[in-house]
Amino acid sequence: MGYLEFCSNCGKKNQFGAKDGNMRHHCSQCGAIHYENPKPTATLICIYEKQLLLVKRAAEPGKGMWGLPGGFIEKGETPEMGAERELIEETNLQGKVKSLLGTCSHFNTIFGDILLVGMEVQIEDWSALKAGDDAAEAVLFPLEKLPNLAFPCHEKIVNMYLEQLKS
Ligand SMILES: [Zn+2]
Repeated sequence: MGYLEFCSNCGKKNQFGAKDGNMRHHCSQCGAIHYENPKPTATLICIYEKQLLLVKRAAEPGKGMWGLPGGFIEKGETPEMGAERELIEETNLQGKVKSLLGTCSHFNTIFGDILLVGMEVQIEDWSALKAGDDAAEAVLFPLEKLPNLAFPCHEKIVNMYLEQLKS
């Protein structure tokens, strides 16, 4: 079965074409329009004495590569709530979102389009640091000696943080 081949409302075959200002899957039987939107993802910058917290990704995409901690914001969550939950899940750390750094869009990933929301997070107590689910390792790297990151958007969000330091 193809992606959005059938209507999730009535089960009939979907059409694909111009609808409500864009090309969309829609159902001529029941009239449902199957909107597709980017998935918002909390992406975290956590700094300890000029070092950046990175996690080695335990799953695809980017398995085995270093990336910023974070993940999809769940239904019912604000970006801040998603950030603080993902932080605990991946690194066992408690933190509070300090500032919004900016966003980066990533198209056609295995999850569809992604909207990364970059946030700086203040960690209260670093002694709890321990890799959790989705993270094979969680390690602090000196900002001037970062490894290559799994995604261009992660590099971009690190640069947003570095630019903010200068201003
Ligand atoms: Zn339908």
